[in-house]
Amino acid sequence: MAMRLEFHEYRPRKIVNVHKHVDGPWFWGKYTAHPYVGCRSGCEFCYARGERYLRRDPATFDTLIGVKVNAVDLLREELPKLARQSGIDVISVGDWQRPAEDRYRLSRGMLEVVRDLGFPLFITERSPLLTRDLDLLTDINTRAWVGVTISMGSVDPALKRAFEPRSPGVRLRLRAIRDLADAGIRVGANLMPVLPFVGDDEAHLEDVVRAVKDHGGAFVLGGGLTMGGVQAQRTLEAFRLFDPALEARVRELYAWKTGGKPQYGPPGPYNARLGLLVRELCARHSILDRMPRYIAPGPLVLNKRIAERLFLKTYDLELEQAKEYRLWAYRKAAWTVDELGESIGDIYAARGEAGLQALPGIGKSIAAQIAEWLAAENDDGE
Ligand code: SF4
Repeated sequence: MAMRLEFHEYRPRKIVNVHKHVDGPWFWGKYTAHPYVGCRSGCEFCYARGERYLRRDPATFDTLIGVKVNAVDLLREELPKLARQSGIDVISVGDWQRPAEDRYRLSRGMLEVVRDLGFPLFITERSPLLTRDLDLLTDINTRAWVGVTISMGSVDPALKRAFEPRSPGVRLRLRAIRDLADAGIRVGANLMPVLPFVGDDEAHLEDVVRAVKDHGGAFVLGGGLTMGGVQAQRTLEAFRLFDPALEARVRELYAWKTGGKPQYGPPGPYNARLGLLVRELCARHSILDRMPRYIAPGPLVLNKRIAERLFLKTYDLELEQAKEYRLWAYRKAAWTVDELGESIGDIYAARGEAGLQALPGIGKSIAAQIAEWLAAENDDGE
């Protein structure tokens, strides 16, 4: 029997979310704006199923698609104001899910706005329908910049059938990577989520890294499975149906007692092992395990470069399983430098490391590290 599908059209008052900090060292975005709520693909592990994101009965996630019919007009109104208040920065817009986007074409309309207003664009997408709009993506990439990650946890058809039976086929997604790469767009894959016990071994991960590389992808980002609310229940059930022995192992990984709640993410050592394995496989196939940050030209380029280094350091520390306080020290320093209104190069030139240490959240050792990076950036610039 065909699944019911309804569209609920409405007109929100606002479309753009402004994040407090850029999403480093992952997607580097500052703004997001999405036209649909709910998703027909209905992947079991999708975190957007949760009430926190959906704000309605999670059971309707894939049968009732909210449609923000004024999304394009709102974006055209809001972006110029944001450019004046917070500056032009990377925005993530759109959602190429079917059949909503075939019918409403709001994502295409939003791309036109991004192109007209000169914003750099980042997209993370599981649907190859994105390449329908290659003309606009190419235009935006010429005027500013476009980065894309195509989502796929693995290239194993058995895992796709079990955990995301209605999402677009993996071969179509790989072809989308090829088309985007051929158009000169920086594209890679995000392996999110990598499924524990069934998709996190070296063979599964190498298959996907190799496939992404063979299709012209420039990077691969690996990320573990999160487990929250109804999404956790559904994902556990999918594991159980795939192999009944997995239920106990998944429960143990997420410290999930019967009748209790799971931890939201896998433990640190698991994440570190996964990140290191992805890093090693990426090196083996000459591909990056981070997406390089886009930095718009302007007087604060150096700040953004130093902030990028600080963010990347937090990721390295996670993989080393360093103490939380060290990660937080680098994260806070990254925010400070990224959001600073004056050039960090000028501050250092005027007052040396003492000037850096006067900035919020920057202590002696991070100041010394920044000074070293500033010297390296200077050498690179000469
Ligand atoms: S395609 Fe993406 S948004 Fe849709 S259900 Fe799957 S993971 Fe969620």
